[in-house]
Amino acid sequence: MISFWENQSFLNYDLIVIGSGIVGLSTACSFKERNPHLSVLILESGIFPSGASTKNAGFACYGSAAEIWHDVSLLGEIKALEVVSLRIDGLRKLRQRLGDSAIDYQELGGGEIFLKGEDFNLEHIPLLNQWLCPLFGKEVFVPDLAKIKDLGFQPENIQSFVINTVEGQIDTGKMMKSLISYVRSKDIEIYTGCRAGTPENIGEKWRIPIENSTIVFNAGRVAVCTNAFTPRLFPDLDIKPGRGQVLVTKPIPDLKFKGIFHFDEGYFYFRNFENRVIFGGGRNLDFKGEETDLIELNNEIQAKLDFYLDTLILPKNTHWEVEHRWAGIMAFGKEKLPIIKDMGNGLVVGARMNGMGVAIGTEVGEKLADFLK
Ligand SMILES: Cc1cc2nc3c(=O)[nH]c(=O)nc-3n(C[C@H](O)[C@H](O)[C@H](O)COP(=O)(O)OP(=O)(O)OC[C@H]3O[C@@H](n4cnc5c(N)ncnc54)[C@H](O)[C@@H]3O)c2cc1C
Repeated sequence: MISFWENQSFLNYDLIVIGSGIVGLSTACSFKERNPHLSVLILESGIFPSGASTKNAGFACYGSAAEIWHDVSLLGEIKALEVVSLRIDGLRKLRQRLGDSAIDYQELGGGEIFLKGEDFNLEHIPLLNQWLCPLFGKEVFVPDLAKIKDLGFQPENIQSFVINTVEGQIDTGKMMKSLISYVRSKDIEIYTGCRAGTPENIGEKWRIPIENSTIVFNAGRVAVCTNAFTPRLFPDLDIKPGRGQVLVTKPIPDLKFKGIFHFDEGYFYFRNFENRVIFGGGRNLDFKGEETDLIELNNEIQAKLDFYLDTLILPKNTHWEVEHRWAGIMAFGKEKLPIIKDMGNGLVVGARMNGMGVAIGTEVGEKLADFLK
């Protein structure tokens, strides 16, 4: 039973954001920065943010050579470069908002390994650099097979290696904690343990029911930022979940590489974090099986990660142990660009980050706030 006071002070807001991942938190910030006197509440189903934003590997990346080439062949040069620009704008705004030290942003670069048998043609590199140079002001991709010796990778299965001069990395946990602190500093409220149902439009207001509760929130505007979980609220949107598997090793003395690395068309990715390897991917080994929003491990994919650690990433006979394994859920669809949609009457949706939400999430929040005037 709701009291008069609860009704007065807890249930009615100018904006309610559903989901406290990077997109939901950023949307709330962008809206409140423009409308400091309006009230904003974020509803989160987990005890803390429990989607991809706290489960990724902390890559602040713009795309590997193979990924961008693939995008150009699929979407054309203009759309593919639009995706890169969205990543640039998003990361710039994230860094401006929180500061590099708060999120441990480091621009150490990285690279892409091409395994023997992969058909990427290094002759594409000059054209890719020509397209990207105006965006980054420098040459992004530099083929250099000899470099793999310095990085400690096992050469037997490697056909070529392309250095990436612009990639960055963050500490995912610090970024999300710092974003939550920023949100709180703006007087935005967050209620956790609240799984929202589909918002219902009643007159000028939106009613947001909470699952397994009689409580219903009301708001003039609603932003739905639930990424892979959005089909549970809006089944008609083109969004399919895609699970990502990750592991982190215990510290490895003399780990040679720094920065972020990809192979197998970007489906596998690894980095150095405090002399541990964070290594993830392998969704392409079982696309159908990984099209799920169940946060569980896939043992076959985890075994493949172990295999590549042993035979590709670490020098032969390196002793390593896995400290922790986890999975997180991304959202994909037929299109590479995210859904940033004004659904009318003050309801907006920002979802389907296509595995790029660390990079684009802040900019998606800005664009949603543009709709929510
Ligand atoms: C393993 C892995 C690796 C990745 N690597 C990269 C990378 O290299 N670079 C990159 O840019 N991105 C990467 N990503 C993707 C990036 O993490 C996501 O795109 C981004 O975090 C999505 O942010 P979001 O806010 O849209 O969604 P999420 O972070 O998933 O947030 C959605 C939130 O909504 C909550 N929620 C869901 N339903 C409801 C409901 N009904 N009511 C209330 N709350 C609800 C969830 O609990 C969750 O906290 C990776 C992701 C994973 C899993």
